[in-house]
Amino acid sequence: MINVTKTYLPPIERYVGYLQGIWERNYVTNNGPLVRELEEKLKAFLQVKHLFLVSNGTIALQIAIKALDLQGEIITTPFSYVATTSSIVWEGCHPIFVDIDPETLCLNADLIEGAITPSTTAILPTHVYGNPCDVERIQTIADRHGLKVLYDAAHAFGVQYCGRSLLNFGHISTLSFHATKLFHTIEGGALITSDDALARRIAYMRNFGHRAPEEFWGVGINGKNSEFHAAMGLCVLPEVNDLIARRRTISQLYDKLLHGNGLQRPKALDGTRRNFAYHPVVFSSEESLLCAQAALNREEVFPRRYFFPPLNELPYVMYERLPIAESIARRVLCLPLYPQLSSDDVTRICLIVKSVLREQVRVP
Ligand SMILES: *Cc1c(COP(=O)(O)O)cnc(C)c1O
Repeated sequence: MINVTKTYLPPIERYVGYLQGIWERNYVTNNGPLVRELEEKLKAFLQVKHLFLVSNGTIALQIAIKALDLQGEIITTPFSYVATTSSIVWEGCHPIFVDIDPETLCLNADLIEGAITPSTTAILPTHVYGNPCDVERIQTIADRHGLKVLYDAAHAFGVQYCGRSLLNFGHISTLSFHATKLFHTIEGGALITSDDALARRIAYMRNFGHRAPEEFWGVGINGKNSEFHAAMGLCVLPEVNDLIARRRTISQLYDKLLHGNGLQRPKALDGTRRNFAYHPVVFSSEESLLCAQAALNREEVFPRRYFFPPLNELPYVMYERLPIAESIARRVLCLPLYPQLSSDDVTRICLIVKSVLREQVRVP
């Protein structure tokens, strides 16, 4: 069976080596030495100033919304994972959806100003599939209107834009280190900022607001992660460049084999060094996608409709029609992509997809 993704597990001896140390120290959580070591290594690898490891990417978004003191309306994208929207609603704010750019599939910067009201406090876009949003224009708009910018960068591990880390744009970027992501700690996530005052708030908020064992800075939550999760991250991080290189090879093979078959590929802005976290393809119709998905499923291949449904159709938000996001969400499929996927399997997947597409040309 081939799934859309497969967790990378390091050689077990390496993980056991870290377990040995945990047993010797008998220190398992509460910002322990492995958590601190992983944070330092991630800061160096990602070229960012402050990075806080937390228990998952969703709590990272929720802490970010709290740390930025956001209220009222937050302009956001309808084309992302549900956590982008649910975090806004969970924190008592209102998501205001703006349609996406038909090429990058990220929030369309041209449409942001039309959605700003006196209640707007922030913009929360997603770097979809690791493709950068139009970060410079978004910053200009935010500055003009005094808004905060929070990026859901769950897909953007290691992505560079115009020679610097994409994670350095905006007031805060959040990452997910879930087992299905490019770099993972089983469960985990992080907040990234260059702002020292925000960093202090995040550090307190992640740990119940503790300033000292018997003294509190303010309200906080438990967003800590454990030594066991950090150990997995320390095992995966040295491999991550190789994992990205292998993903690039597979993604390029898909592009070569599927070229000229009418599938659209989301575009990355010029100046992007990509991470090949996903391989999304956009079909000409939902019917065509469903035929391809069914044909692949028959062969025990399970791609994923990622992202479907569009978030403006969630039952707990106010629906507003967004033609591009609704159309793309119905037609996009993420093909299997993980470092251990063989070239033979990629070739087989492409043959199945191509035979379905050819069938549809013949029977219009
Ligand atoms: C995975 C993901 C999240 C949530 O991260 P978790 O670590 O699973 O909580 C949020 N946003 C996007 C875009 C994601 O892909």
